[in-house]
Amino acid sequence: MDKKTVRDVDVTGKRVFVRADLNVPLDDGRITDDTRIRASLPTIVYLLERGASVVLASHLGRPKGKVNDALRLKPVADRLSQLLGRPVRMTGDALGPGVQVAVDKLRPGDLLMLENLRFHAEEEANGEEFSKSLAGLADVYVDDAFGSAHRAHASTEGITHFLPSVAGLLMEREVDALSRLLERPPKPFHAIIGGAKVTGKLEVLEALLSRCQAILVGGGMANTFLAAKGHALGKSLVETDQIDNAQRIMSEARRKRVRFMVPTDVVIAPQIHYRAQTQVVGIDAVPKEMMVVDIGPHTITAYTDHLAKAKTVFWNGPMGVFEVKQFAEGTNAIARFLADQTAKGGITVVGGGDSVAAVEQLGVADRMTHVSTGGGASLEFLEGKTLPGIAALDDCQAAA
Ligand code: ADP
Ligand code: MG
Repeated sequence: MDKKTVRDVDVTGKRVFVRADLNVPLDDGRITDDTRIRASLPTIVYLLERGASVVLASHLGRPKGKVNDALRLKPVADRLSQLLGRPVRMTGDALGPGVQVAVDKLRPGDLLMLENLRFHAEEEANGEEFSKSLAGLADVYVDDAFGSAHRAHASTEGITHFLPSVAGLLMEREVDALSRLLERPPKPFHAIIGGAKVTGKLEVLEALLSRCQAILVGGGMANTFLAAKGHALGKSLVETDQIDNAQRIMSEARRKRVRFMVPTDVVIAPQIHYRAQTQVVGIDAVPKEMMVVDIGPHTITAYTDHLAKAKTVFWNGPMGVFEVKQFAEGTNAIARFLADQTAKGGITVVGGGDSVAAVEQLGVADRMTHVSTGGGASLEFLEGKTLPGIAALDDCQAAA
């Protein structure tokens, strides 16, 4: 990548402000998936081993600028402390005299974690004073929060105006892996896109139309494409206001000679419930009172047969309501298939909150070429957008 990284700066004896994305899912105060914490370890360990003192900061959830006890970072600090095998001290706030005192006491190799940045409205508003105060805590800024890079917030963008700013190791890994999809990926390059809705995926679908040789759709969003083709889908999730867009995407695919595949059979159920009776039907046989909850076995075979021809595959969005076990077959089949495809030399990249969760749940995440920790950020990156958190970092060569 063309941005400086932690490896390009001397951090020994320096105070380093590390912005990580430790925004993990919580259930009643318990962390249900610690992927993002584990993914942040290499940079933290790298800095500590080199005698930097680290001020670690993140947001958690959406406290909207107010202190919210349910969104304190304490459980994250506890988990981090288990993973690092050392205590992780926390401040009671991201800012203020208490923070300054704690930071002043840091010795080389010490780690201090700030409280949730978003307890301050200035974080998301990218307030200059707030950015300056955060910058005042350190000599160097390291951005390892790829998952937050699509937001210009104080801790991802504002702070870079006041400190030398470099990428962390996770940021570098994400940018390198996703750039590979933008910069001459080995062809054929196929994308498999699912998830709930077309809304939010339109731009990535459009971007992929110019890069991929095939796009395969599944999940709830495929319903809108099927509806655009004239199929009746009962009670299924269909975005009637997106049918025009779905039609446009499909005709653009024809014009660009991109193969566009939709499900030919589906799993249906009367409702989304773990004890719901399921049935497999062709897409022309969805009864009025039923809804599509997964792709069917023929579709799984057709999709995996086609993906087997690809040298590069990008996957975003589950193929069904995978949170319910008997609706997860399509999603799991794609996950297992892609893991095998990697073993055969294919490049497989998975991005998106729920698709990544599915891959993690199945235990095949480390069998993919890359599993992105950034949901929205990875999609925006693939859309070719400039992510403010990345753009703001120091370039490799000083400007001539
Ligand atoms: P990602 O986070 O990977 O980008 P999305 O957030 O777009 O994926 O979509 C994930 C959600 O889509 C899941 O909660 C899943 O239950 C839902 N979903 C998938 N298929 C269907 C379907 N057929 N009907 C309703 N919801 C679906
Ligand atoms: Mg999601």
